[in-house]
Amino acid sequence: MCSFIESVTSAFQSCTCGLVHHEINMKKVVISNETVYGEMAVFIKEQRFRKTVLVCDENTLKSAGNKVRDTLESSGISVSLSQIFPNDHGDVAADEQSLIQTLLETPKDTDVLVAVGSGTLHDIVRFASHQRRIPFVSFPTAASVDGFTSAGAPLIVKGEKKTIQCTAPIALFTDINVLKEAPSELAAAGFGDMLGKITSLADWRVSRWMADEPYCPTGAALTKEALENCLSHLEDIAARSEKGLTVLLESLIISGLVMLVLDHSRPASGGEHHLSHYWEMDLLKKDAPQLLHGAKVGVASSLLTSIYKRLIEEMNNDQELSDPVKNKRYQQHKKEIAQTYGELPNERQMQEWLAKVGGPSTIQELGITQDLLEEALQHAHTIRDRWTGLKMKNQLRLTPQQ
Ligand SMILES: [Zn+2]
Ligand SMILES: [Zn+2]
Repeated sequence: MCSFIESVTSAFQSCTCGLVHHEINMKKVVISNETVYGEMAVFIKEQRFRKTVLVCDENTLKSAGNKVRDTLESSGISVSLSQIFPNDHGDVAADEQSLIQTLLETPKDTDVLVAVGSGTLHDIVRFASHQRRIPFVSFPTAASVDGFTSAGAPLIVKGEKKTIQCTAPIALFTDINVLKEAPSELAAAGFGDMLGKITSLADWRVSRWMADEPYCPTGAALTKEALENCLSHLEDIAARSEKGLTVLLESLIISGLVMLVLDHSRPASGGEHHLSHYWEMDLLKKDAPQLLHGAKVGVASSLLTSIYKRLIEEMNNDQELSDPVKNKRYQQHKKEIAQTYGELPNERQMQEWLAKVGGPSTIQELGITQDLLEEALQHAHTIRDRWTGLKMKNQLRLTPQQ
């Protein structure tokens, strides 16, 4: 087992929260340079895999796929290619067409799938791997999302987004030079997905008091540490330096591993993901081009910091929640809740961080209208039965801002 996975595993081993900590079945995580292709071939041979299917799109075939294929083939491993076609908007989507294409292009005697791409390609492969009961190896081509090492696959089924629990990769390899050459908005989106942990972690803490949600302090601490590591390497991430992209990808991987161990996405996904999901559903309904997941999450988290801080003002005004059961808990834990929201950075700071790495920092820059934002603020909390500050805001019926 590599030291990276070992340190996450050992952190959970000493956790006394009483929750089930699932074992990480990943064998290897290698973030390196040119040598990574050879290391990946050695790993695949060690596992006695002979037949692979490499799943990629047109861009990722060029950026890394060809090299992966050539190296595996020259090591005597058979590689067949499944190049996913883009939709009418030119996007690769994890929808029925792509899922069926991958399944059709995966021969019955395939030993392992290799995902070469960013988040969506991984979701397609995660599903195919789960359906076929064969493992997959992850090769991220951009530090764009925290889902590489988790098991949940957000899929688009009949135009609706559904997250299906599938499977995590058995190993992850990537070439830092490929990450450097990826479009800059992808790393900015990865940073946005990490910045979202600011509100998801606050939501998780509060959900303990408001909804008895299971809470693992180790999972929270590891996710927080990964977030803080990104914030302390902001300059490096903004410059897309080797150090910056390594820190960013490692942080995204850790966030994914925490979800894997806890078998839920609570540490990494709160109200900001619900807003992002709502916007995504709206774009799907309108058949409009999709926005990057992390770009939406970063902006949503930034907006929520000021909304959550306003909740403290309402607490001081002796407001009550509309649900009497929740109100009782709210009255009991007001102090801790106010402290949690009080510790959040302010919206301006969040926007500065997002702008620094070159991502959108406002809904205008993201391309979301004020009307859609208002609608999402009212309804996104109903997407999941999960306690968030967004739910609290709706139960408190905040007065319009002066
Ligand atoms: Zn996310
Ligand atoms: Zn724990």
